[in-house]
Amino acid sequence: MITKYAKAKVNLTLDILGKRDDGYHEVEMIMQSIDLADIVTLEDAEDIIVETDLAELADDRTNLAYRAAELLRDTYGKGRGAHIRIEKKIPLAAGLAGGSSDAAAVLLGLNELWGLGRSMDELTALGARLGSDVPFCMIGGTMLATGRGEVLTKVPPLGAYPLVLVKPPLGVSTAAAYGGYRADKVETHPTAKRMTDAIASKDITCVYEAMGNVLETVTIPLRPEIAEIKRALEEAGADKAMMSGSGPTVFAFVKTKEDARRIADKMRQKYSTYTICTTATCQGEE
Ligand code: ATP
Repeated sequence: MITKYAKAKVNLTLDILGKRDDGYHEVEMIMQSIDLADIVTLEDAEDIIVETDLAELADDRTNLAYRAAELLRDTYGKGRGAHIRIEKKIPLAAGLAGGSSDAAAVLLGLNELWGLGRSMDELTALGARLGSDVPFCMIGGTMLATGRGEVLTKVPPLGAYPLVLVKPPLGVSTAAAYGGYRADKVETHPTAKRMTDAIASKDITCVYEAMGNVLETVTIPLRPEIAEIKRALEEAGADKAMMSGSGPTVFAFVKTKEDARRIADKMRQKYSTYTICTTATCQGEE
């Protein structure tokens, strides 16, 4: 049996550069893995079976973990099967790449379990067919993602910083958020260059200043509570709060783990129906 921790991500920056002929948007993002992770266990079986601990998450072919297993089997592992159990910790449709991360864990885990010996390049190429965020979720750390998000370049690692996550009880469709994007509504675009310089300077306040997500201009007018959560987090003492991906999760940098716990408790009192947790950015390798 193999166990993988399928880590969530946040976007330190998210910019849209234009629309491509294939219908996707050209993006430039600095992606960051966080410690919040689903637990994915894999065991040999006759067929592909997916089991999750969340009733609202399908365990059939529509589950990205199932599709990852099927794609790997059909490409490199003819006749193999696996029993895949997913303990969901990452909220659904949250902007945290939960589904992509499960798919990434399945590709990496089944490559080991089935003894396929495929390279990371081969596996990330399969991952990109399942979703733009899957290759990043396979590699993790701090990365520049371009193209439709699947072209990855290593950048200096941010390091471990405590975070608070707040997700209001609504899901945001990634496709709808990108579909609603209007360049003329954006006043300032974040740049990956400014963010990587900020990370390299090791001055976290420069990182806060370089943060930006152009999809806030789409999601916040539809869901004003996101702006309200950002304000509430910063009023409670967080240093910088921003929406991740297409939302609706807001993540906030705080100074210490104790601050994270205190601020999360405050948020729980204020927003009793929201999903709130403390976590941290992943250390990453130099
Ligand atoms: P991204 O940030 O990559 O757009 P997200 O965090 O916004 O992703 P996900 O949690 O990955 O969104 O899920 C979006 C939808 O994908 C869910 O509503 C669900 O129906 C579907 N889905 C399929 N497989 C999974 C899975 N293993 N985990 C979560 N969602 C899944």
